[in-house]
Amino acid sequence: SSSSLGAEVRAEFPVLAQEIAPGKPLIYLDSGATSQKPQCVLDALHEYYVRDNANVHRGAHTLATRATEAFEEARGKVARFVGGEAREIVWTRGATEAVNLVAHGWGDAHLEEGDEIVLTVAEHHANLVPWQLLASRKRLRLKYARLDAAQGAIDADHLASLVTRRTRVVAMVHVSNVLGSEAPVAEAVRVARERGAPDCVVLLDACQSVPHKGVDVRDLGVDFLVASGHKMCGPTGIGFLWGKYDRLEAMQPWQGGGEMIDRVTLDGTTYAAPPARFEAGTPAIAQAVALGTACDFLSGVGMDRIAAYERRLARRLDAGLRAVPGVRVYGPSADDRDVALVAFNARNVHASDLAFFLDQEGVATRAGHHCCQPLHHALDADAGTVRASLALYNTPDEIDAFLAHLRGVLDFFADLPTPADPKPAFH
Ligand code: PMP
Repeated sequence: SSSSLGAEVRAEFPVLAQEIAPGKPLIYLDSGATSQKPQCVLDALHEYYVRDNANVHRGAHTLATRATEAFEEARGKVARFVGGEAREIVWTRGATEAVNLVAHGWGDAHLEEGDEIVLTVAEHHANLVPWQLLASRKRLRLKYARLDAAQGAIDADHLASLVTRRTRVVAMVHVSNVLGSEAPVAEAVRVARERGAPDCVVLLDACQSVPHKGVDVRDLGVDFLVASGHKMCGPTGIGFLWGKYDRLEAMQPWQGGGEMIDRVTLDGTTYAAPPARFEAGTPAIAQAVALGTACDFLSGVGMDRIAAYERRLARRLDAGLRAVPGVRVYGPSADDRDVALVAFNARNVHASDLAFFLDQEGVATRAGHHCCQPLHHALDADAGTVRASLALYNTPDEIDAFLAHLRGVLDFFADLPTPADPKPAFH
Protein backbone atom coordinates (compact mmCIF):
# COMPACT_ATOMS: atom_id res chain seq x y z
CA SER A 1 0.00 0.00 0.00
CA SER A 2 1.12 3.58 -0.47
CA SER A 3 1.14 4.14 3.32
CA SER A 4 4.49 2.40 3.64
CA LEU A 5 6.09 3.94 0.57
CA GLY A 6 8.43 6.33 2.42
CA ALA A 7 9.60 3.63 4.83
CA GLU A 8 10.04 1.23 1.92
CA VAL A 9 12.20 3.44 -0.32
CA ARG A 10 14.26 5.20 2.38
CA ALA A 11 16.86 2.46 2.46
CA GLU A 12 17.70 3.30 -1.15
CA PHE A 13 18.90 6.78 -0.11
CA PRO A 14 22.14 6.39 1.88
CA VAL A 15 22.38 10.09 2.82
CA LEU A 16 19.16 9.89 4.84
CA ALA A 17 20.65 7.45 7.37
CA GLN A 18 22.59 9.99 9.42
CA GLU A 19 22.33 12.07 12.55
CA ILE A 20 22.90 15.82 12.43
CA ALA A 21 23.89 15.73 16.10
CA PRO A 22 23.84 12.87 18.62
CA GLY A 23 20.24 11.70 18.93
CA LYS A 24 19.08 14.05 16.16
CA PRO A 25 18.40 12.00 13.04
CA LEU A 26 18.30 13.96 9.79
CA ILE A 27 14.78 14.93 8.77
CA TYR A 28 15.31 16.16 5.24
CA LEU A 29 12.52 18.57 4.26
CA ASP A 30 14.35 20.48 1.53
CA SER A 31 13.67 18.39 -1.55
CA GLY A 32 12.24 21.45 -3.31
CA ALA A 33 15.79 22.83 -3.38
CA THR A 34 17.31 19.52 -4.34
CA SER A 35 16.25 15.91 -3.89
CA GLN A 36 18.41 13.16 -2.44
CA LYS A 37 19.76 10.44 -4.72
CA PRO A 38 19.04 6.72 -4.60
CA GLN A 39 21.90 4.22 -4.65
CA CYS A 40 21.15 3.23 -8.26
CA VAL A 41 21.81 6.82 -9.41
CA LEU A 42 25.08 6.96 -7.45
CA ASP A 43 26.03 3.60 -8.98
CA ALA A 44 25.19 4.80 -12.49
CA LEU A 45 27.58 7.76 -12.10
CA HIS A 46 30.31 5.53 -10.71
CA GLU A 47 29.90 2.74 -13.24
CA TYR A 48 29.88 5.13 -16.16
CA TYR A 49 33.29 6.47 -15.14
CA VAL A 50 34.68 3.07 -14.18
CA ARG A 51 33.56 1.26 -17.36
CA ASP A 52 32.50 3.50 -20.21
CA ASN A 53 34.02 6.97 -19.90
CA ALA A 54 34.65 8.53 -23.33
CA ASN A 55 33.45 11.55 -25.26
CA VAL A 56 30.15 11.08 -27.07
CA HIS A 57 29.36 11.23 -30.80
CA ARG A 58 33.06 11.59 -31.61
CA GLY A 59 35.15 8.49 -31.49
CA ALA A 60 34.96 5.21 -33.36
CA HIS A 61 36.37 3.19 -30.48
CA THR A 62 34.44 0.88 -28.18
CA LEU A 63 34.24 3.15 -25.16
CA ALA A 64 33.03 6.05 -27.30
CA THR A 65 30.32 3.83 -28.72
CA ARG A 66 29.25 2.66 -25.27
CA ALA A 67 29.24 6.19 -23.85
CA THR A 68 27.23 7.47 -26.82
CA GLU A 69 24.72 4.63 -26.54
CA ALA A 70 24.24 5.17 -22.80
CA PHE A 71 23.88 8.93 -23.32
CA GLU A 72 21.30 8.56 -26.09
CA GLU A 73 19.48 5.81 -24.22
CA ALA A 74 19.13 8.21 -21.27
CA ARG A 75 17.62 10.81 -23.61
CA GLY A 76 14.99 8.25 -24.54
CA LYS A 77 14.29 7.49 -20.87
CA VAL A 78 13.75 11.15 -20.03
CA ALA A 79 11.54 11.52 -23.12
CA ARG A 80 9.36 8.57 -22.10
CA PHE A 81 9.21 9.89 -18.54
CA VAL A 82 7.43 13.06 -19.75
CA GLY A 83 5.60 11.52 -22.71
CA GLY A 84 7.76 12.99 -25.49
CA GLU A 85 10.13 11.68 -28.16
CA ALA A 86 13.90 11.34 -27.72
CA ARG A 87 14.57 13.89 -30.49
CA GLU A 88 12.47 16.42 -28.54
CA ILE A 89 14.75 16.34 -25.48
CA VAL A 90 17.58 18.88 -25.31
CA TRP A 91 20.07 18.36 -22.47
CA THR A 92 20.78 21.48 -20.45
CA ARG A 93 22.51 22.22 -17.14
CA GLY A 94 19.09 22.54 -15.53
CA ALA A 95 15.77 24.33 -15.77
CA THR A 96 17.43 27.73 -15.63
CA GLU A 97 19.55 27.05 -18.70
CA ALA A 98 16.55 25.52 -20.47
CA VAL A 99 14.44 28.69 -20.03
CA ASN A 100 17.36 30.85 -21.16
CA LEU A 101 17.70 28.61 -24.22
CA VAL A 102 14.05 29.15 -25.19
CA ALA A 103 14.21 32.88 -24.46
CA HIS A 104 17.18 33.15 -26.84
CA GLY A 105 16.44 30.40 -29.34
CA TRP A 106 12.74 31.13 -29.74
CA GLY A 107 12.45 34.65 -28.36
CA ASP A 108 15.29 36.26 -30.30
CA ALA A 109 14.25 34.49 -33.50
CA HIS A 110 10.53 35.28 -33.45
CA LEU A 111 9.54 38.12 -31.11
CA GLU A 112 9.35 41.76 -32.15
CA GLU A 113 9.00 45.11 -30.45
CA GLY A 114 5.60 45.46 -28.83
CA ASP A 115 4.97 41.73 -28.52
CA GLU A 116 3.74 40.45 -25.17
CA ILE A 117 4.84 37.71 -22.83
CA VAL A 118 2.40 36.54 -20.17
CA LEU A 119 3.91 35.22 -16.94
CA THR A 120 2.62 34.92 -13.38
CA VAL A 121 3.63 36.62 -10.12
CA ALA A 122 4.52 33.15 -8.79
CA GLU A 123 7.46 32.58 -11.14
CA HIS A 124 10.80 31.36 -9.89
CA HIS A 125 13.45 33.88 -10.96
CA ALA A 126 14.60 31.22 -13.46
CA ASN A 127 11.35 31.67 -15.39
CA LEU A 128 11.25 35.43 -14.94
CA VAL A 129 14.66 37.04 -15.38
CA PRO A 130 15.41 35.41 -18.79
CA TRP A 131 12.13 36.92 -20.08
CA GLN A 132 12.96 40.31 -18.58
CA LEU A 133 16.33 40.19 -20.36
CA LEU A 134 14.59 39.24 -23.62
CA ALA A 135 12.05 42.03 -23.09
CA SER A 136 14.80 44.61 -22.72
CA ARG A 137 16.68 43.27 -25.77
CA LYS A 138 13.52 43.38 -27.88
CA ARG A 139 11.36 46.08 -26.24
CA LEU A 140 8.62 43.62 -25.35
CA ARG A 141 5.81 43.95 -22.83
CA LEU A 142 5.65 41.58 -19.85
CA LYS A 143 2.31 40.92 -18.15
CA TYR A 144 1.83 39.03 -14.91
CA ALA A 145 -1.15 36.97 -13.85
CA ARG A 146 -1.98 37.62 -10.21
CA LEU A 147 -2.92 35.35 -7.33
CA ASP A 148 -6.53 34.45 -6.64
CA ALA A 149 -8.37 36.10 -3.74
CA ALA A 150 -7.33 33.36 -1.31
CA GLN A 151 -3.68 33.75 -2.45
CA GLY A 152 -3.48 30.01 -2.87
CA ALA A 153 -2.97 29.76 -6.62
CA ILE A 154 -2.88 31.78 -9.85
CA ASP A 155 -6.14 33.48 -10.80
CA ALA A 156 -7.06 31.64 -14.02
CA ASP A 157 -9.52 34.34 -15.18
CA HIS A 158 -6.97 37.07 -14.72
CA LEU A 159 -4.39 35.05 -16.61
CA ALA A 160 -6.86 34.49 -19.46
CA SER A 161 -7.70 38.21 -19.57
CA LEU A 162 -4.03 39.10 -20.20
CA VAL A 163 -3.72 37.09 -23.43
CA THR A 164 -4.14 39.10 -26.65
CA ARG A 165 -3.24 38.86 -30.34
CA ARG A 166 0.18 40.26 -29.39
CA THR A 167 0.88 37.48 -26.89
CA ARG A 168 3.70 35.36 -28.31
CA VAL A 169 4.73 33.47 -25.15
CA VAL A 170 2.85 32.26 -22.08
CA ALA A 171 5.25 30.84 -19.47
CA MET A 172 4.46 29.63 -15.99
CA VAL A 173 5.43 27.40 -13.14
CA HIS A 174 3.51 24.09 -13.19
CA VAL A 175 3.63 23.55 -9.41
CA SER A 176 4.76 26.59 -7.43
CA ASN A 177 7.91 26.05 -5.36
CA VAL A 178 6.41 28.28 -2.65
CA LEU A 179 2.63 27.81 -2.73
CA GLY A 180 2.69 24.14 -3.70
CA SER A 181 -0.36 24.75 -5.91
CA GLU A 182 -0.77 23.90 -9.57
CA ALA A 183 -1.08 26.49 -12.33
CA PRO A 184 -4.24 26.60 -14.49
CA VAL A 185 -2.38 24.97 -17.38
CA ALA A 186 -5.40 23.76 -19.37
CA GLU A 187 -6.94 27.23 -19.25
CA ALA A 188 -3.64 28.88 -20.22
CA VAL A 189 -3.17 26.54 -23.19
CA ARG A 190 -6.76 27.10 -24.34
CA VAL A 191 -6.57 30.92 -24.26
CA ALA A 192 -3.09 30.94 -25.79
CA ARG A 193 -4.45 28.95 -28.77
CA GLU A 194 -7.74 30.86 -29.01
CA ARG A 195 -6.67 34.40 -28.31
CA GLY A 196 -2.89 34.56 -28.52
CA ALA A 197 -0.78 35.25 -31.60
CA PRO A 198 -1.00 32.43 -34.19
CA ASP A 199 2.42 31.13 -33.14
CA CYS A 200 1.99 31.77 -29.39
CA VAL A 201 3.96 29.18 -27.39
CA VAL A 202 3.27 27.91 -23.89
CA LEU A 203 6.20 26.98 -21.65
CA LEU A 204 5.85 25.09 -18.41
CA ASP A 205 8.43 25.11 -15.61
CA ALA A 206 7.92 21.58 -14.33
CA CYS A 207 10.74 21.52 -11.73
CA GLN A 208 8.35 20.88 -8.85
CA SER A 209 5.87 18.66 -10.66
CA VAL A 210 7.90 15.98 -12.46
CA PRO A 211 9.40 14.49 -9.27
CA HIS A 212 5.97 14.15 -7.65
CA LYS A 213 3.35 13.16 -10.21
CA GLY A 214 3.05 11.74 -13.68
CA VAL A 215 3.53 14.48 -16.28
CA ASP A 216 2.63 13.99 -19.94
CA VAL A 217 3.54 16.76 -22.34
CA ARG A 218 0.94 15.70 -24.93
CA ASP A 219 -1.87 15.69 -22.34
CA LEU A 220 -0.76 19.09 -21.08
CA GLY A 221 -0.75 20.45 -24.64
CA VAL A 222 2.18 22.81 -24.04
CA ASP A 223 4.98 23.65 -26.48
CA PHE A 224 7.94 23.57 -24.10
CA LEU A 225 8.61 22.02 -20.72
CA VAL A 226 11.72 22.45 -18.57
CA ALA A 227 13.00 20.63 -15.49
CA SER A 228 16.13 20.02 -13.44
CA GLY A 229 17.59 16.55 -12.91
CA HIS A 230 18.78 17.21 -9.38
CA LYS A 231 15.21 17.78 -8.13
CA MET A 232 14.04 14.43 -9.53
CA CYS A 233 16.53 12.10 -7.84
CA GLY A 234 19.20 12.72 -10.50
CA PRO A 235 22.57 14.47 -10.28
CA THR A 236 23.27 18.20 -10.40
CA GLY A 237 24.55 19.71 -13.65
CA ILE A 238 21.89 18.11 -15.86
CA GLY A 239 18.35 19.05 -16.81
CA PHE A 240 16.34 19.21 -19.96
CA LEU A 241 14.17 21.14 -22.31
CA TRP A 242 11.38 19.19 -23.95
CA GLY A 243 10.01 20.98 -27.02
CA LYS A 244 7.54 19.95 -29.73
CA TYR A 245 9.81 19.03 -32.58
CA ASP A 246 8.52 21.68 -34.99
CA ARG A 247 9.06 24.33 -32.31
CA LEU A 248 12.63 23.18 -31.77
CA GLU A 249 13.19 23.22 -35.54
CA ALA A 250 12.04 26.83 -35.65
CA MET A 251 14.56 27.87 -32.98
CA GLN A 252 17.90 29.44 -33.75
CA PRO A 253 21.04 28.19 -32.02
CA TRP A 254 22.03 29.94 -28.82
CA GLN A 255 25.54 28.76 -28.03
CA GLY A 256 27.92 27.86 -30.83
CA GLY A 257 30.65 25.24 -30.83
CA GLY A 258 31.28 21.59 -31.52
CA GLU A 259 28.39 19.12 -31.85
CA MET A 260 25.79 21.68 -32.92
CA ILE A 261 26.98 22.16 -36.49
CA ASP A 262 26.22 20.57 -39.82
CA ARG A 263 29.07 22.03 -41.87
CA VAL A 264 31.56 24.74 -40.96
CA THR A 265 33.67 26.81 -43.33
CA LEU A 266 35.53 30.01 -42.62
CA ASP A 267 32.73 31.85 -44.41
CA GLY A 268 29.89 30.45 -42.36
CA THR A 269 28.19 27.51 -40.74
CA THR A 270 25.05 25.48 -41.15
CA TYR A 271 23.52 23.94 -38.09
CA ALA A 272 22.60 20.45 -37.05
CA ALA A 273 18.97 19.46 -36.59
CA PRO A 274 17.55 19.52 -33.03
CA PRO A 275 18.40 18.41 -30.43
CA ALA A 276 22.10 18.56 -31.42
CA ARG A 277 21.64 22.17 -32.60
CA PHE A 278 21.29 23.22 -28.97
CA GLU A 279 23.99 21.07 -27.43
CA ALA A 280 27.24 22.87 -28.18
CA GLY A 281 30.32 21.37 -26.60
CA THR A 282 30.89 18.25 -24.53
CA PRO A 283 27.75 17.60 -22.50
CA ALA A 284 27.37 16.35 -18.91
CA ILE A 285 27.51 12.73 -20.03
CA ALA A 286 27.65 10.85 -16.73
CA GLN A 287 24.95 13.09 -15.29
CA ALA A 288 22.68 12.53 -18.29
CA VAL A 289 23.13 8.76 -18.01
CA ALA A 290 22.37 8.90 -14.27
CA LEU A 291 19.30 11.08 -14.87
CA GLY A 292 18.02 8.30 -17.11
CA THR A 293 18.55 5.93 -14.18
CA ALA A 294 16.65 8.34 -11.89
CA CYS A 295 13.69 8.29 -14.31
CA ASP A 296 13.78 4.48 -14.27
CA PHE A 297 13.86 4.54 -10.49
CA LEU A 298 10.85 6.88 -10.19
CA SER A 299 8.90 4.96 -12.85
CA GLY A 300 9.80 1.72 -11.11
CA VAL A 301 8.26 2.95 -7.87
CA GLY A 302 5.37 4.27 -9.96
CA MET A 303 4.43 7.92 -10.41
CA ASP A 304 0.79 7.26 -9.53
CA ARG A 305 1.85 5.60 -6.31
CA ILE A 306 4.25 8.43 -5.51
CA ALA A 307 1.54 11.02 -6.21
CA ALA A 308 -1.01 9.27 -3.99
CA TYR A 309 1.49 8.89 -1.16
CA GLU A 310 2.75 12.47 -1.36
CA ARG A 311 -0.81 13.80 -1.43
CA ARG A 312 -1.35 12.20 1.96
CA LEU A 313 1.93 13.65 3.23
CA ALA A 314 0.86 17.06 1.90
CA ARG A 315 -2.41 17.05 3.78
CA ARG A 316 -0.83 15.87 7.01
CA LEU A 317 1.87 18.55 6.75
CA ASP A 318 -0.58 21.34 5.92
CA ALA A 319 -3.08 20.42 8.62
CA GLY A 320 -0.30 19.93 11.18
CA LEU A 321 1.23 23.32 10.48
CA ARG A 322 -2.12 25.11 10.61
CA ALA A 323 -2.71 23.60 14.05
CA VAL A 324 0.46 25.17 15.50
CA PRO A 325 -0.45 28.41 17.33
CA GLY A 326 1.05 31.53 15.73
CA VAL A 327 1.89 29.81 12.43
CA ARG A 328 0.70 31.27 9.17
CA VAL A 329 0.59 28.90 6.19
CA TYR A 330 0.83 30.25 2.63
CA GLY A 331 -0.81 28.57 -0.33
CA PRO A 332 -4.01 26.62 -0.87
CA SER A 333 -6.06 24.82 1.74
CA ALA A 334 -5.14 21.25 2.65
CA ASP A 335 -7.83 19.80 0.35
CA ASP A 336 -6.21 21.45 -2.67
CA ARG A 337 -2.71 20.23 -1.94
CA ASP A 338 -1.26 17.43 -4.04
CA VAL A 339 2.42 18.19 -3.54
CA ALA A 340 3.96 18.06 -0.06
CA LEU A 341 5.53 21.50 -0.12
CA VAL A 342 4.37 24.16 2.34
CA ALA A 343 5.76 27.64 3.06
CA PHE A 344 4.95 29.24 6.39
CA ASN A 345 5.93 31.86 8.94
CA ALA A 346 5.65 32.04 12.69
CA ARG A 347 4.63 35.13 14.56
CA ASN A 348 7.61 36.94 16.11
CA VAL A 349 10.28 34.58 14.80
CA HIS A 350 12.13 35.44 11.63
CA ALA A 351 12.14 32.70 8.99
CA SER A 352 15.95 32.34 9.02
CA ASP A 353 16.00 32.00 12.83
CA LEU A 354 13.34 29.35 12.64
CA ALA A 355 15.26 27.37 10.01
CA PHE A 356 18.44 27.70 12.09
CA PHE A 357 16.79 26.36 15.24
CA LEU A 358 15.06 23.58 13.34
CA ASP A 359 18.45 22.54 11.99
CA GLN A 360 19.69 22.19 15.58
CA GLU A 361 17.01 19.51 15.91
CA GLY A 362 18.13 17.77 12.72
CA VAL A 363 15.35 19.22 10.53
CA ALA A 364 16.50 20.59 7.16
CA THR A 365 14.16 23.31 5.84
CA ARG A 366 14.84 26.33 3.71
CA ALA A 367 14.30 29.97 4.69
CA GLY A 368 14.22 32.98 2.40
CA HIS A 369 12.53 33.92 -0.84
CA HIS A 370 13.11 30.59 -2.58
CA CYS A 371 14.04 32.60 -5.70
CA CYS A 372 10.51 34.09 -5.77
CA GLN A 373 10.81 37.65 -4.53
CA PRO A 374 7.81 39.03 -6.46
CA LEU A 375 5.64 36.23 -5.07
CA HIS A 376 6.78 36.94 -1.50
CA HIS A 377 5.95 40.58 -2.09
CA ALA A 378 2.47 39.62 -3.32
CA LEU A 379 2.04 37.44 -0.22
CA ASP A 380 3.09 40.35 2.01
CA ALA A 381 6.01 38.21 3.16
CA ASP A 382 8.96 40.32 2.02
CA ALA A 383 11.05 39.04 4.93
CA GLY A 384 10.81 35.52 3.51
CA THR A 385 9.19 32.26 4.54
CA VAL A 386 10.26 28.87 5.83
CA ARG A 387 9.60 26.05 3.40
CA ALA A 388 9.19 22.37 4.20
CA SER A 389 9.31 20.36 0.97
CA LEU A 390 9.04 16.59 0.96
CA ALA A 391 9.59 13.73 -1.43
CA LEU A 392 8.73 10.06 -1.77
CA TYR A 393 11.30 9.07 0.88
CA ASN A 394 9.75 11.12 3.70
CA THR A 395 7.38 9.52 6.19
CA PRO A 396 4.37 10.62 8.24
CA ASP A 397 6.52 10.07 11.36
CA GLU A 398 9.01 12.64 10.09
CA ILE A 399 6.21 15.16 9.64
CA ASP A 400 5.07 14.56 13.20
CA ALA A 401 8.65 14.90 14.51
CA PHE A 402 9.14 18.11 12.54
CA LEU A 403 5.90 19.57 13.95
CA ALA A 404 6.95 18.64 17.50
CA HIS A 405 10.34 20.31 16.98
CA LEU A 406 8.65 23.37 15.52
CA ARG A 407 6.38 23.65 18.57
CA GLY A 408 9.45 23.28 20.79
CA VAL A 409 11.31 26.08 19.00
CA LEU A 410 8.28 28.37 19.13
CA ASP A 411 7.77 27.65 22.85
CA PHE A 412 11.40 28.57 23.43
CA PHE A 413 10.89 31.92 21.67
CA ALA A 414 7.59 32.53 23.48
CA ASP A 415 9.41 32.21 26.82
CA LEU A 416 11.90 34.90 25.88
CA PRO A 417 11.14 38.42 27.17
CA THR A 418 9.36 40.41 24.46
CA PRO A 419 11.71 42.99 22.93
CA ALA A 420 10.67 46.61 23.38
CA ASP A 421 10.60 47.07 19.61
CA PRO A 422 9.74 43.69 18.13
CA LYS A 423 10.66 43.09 14.52
CA PRO A 424 7.57 41.86 12.74
CA ALA A 425 8.18 38.44 11.22
CA PHE A 426 5.10 38.95 9.09
CA HIS A 427 2.73 41.84 8.82
N1 PMP B 1 11.84 26.64 -11.27
C1 PMP B 1 11.43 26.16 -10.10
C2 PMP B 1 9.96 26.10 -9.80
C3 PMP B 1 12.36 25.74 -9.15
O1 PMP B 1 11.93 25.28 -7.97
C4 PMP B 1 13.74 25.80 -9.46
C5 PMP B 1 14.77 25.35 -8.47
N2 PMP B 1 14.74 26.06 -7.24
C6 PMP B 1 14.11 26.30 -10.71
C7 PMP B 1 13.14 26.70 -11.58
C8 PMP B 1 15.54 26.44 -11.11
O2 PMP B 1 16.17 25.21 -11.20
P1 PMP B 1 17.75 25.12 -11.39
O3 PMP B 1 18.36 26.05 -10.38
O4 PMP B 1 18.06 23.69 -11.12
O5 PMP B 1 18.06 25.53 -12.79
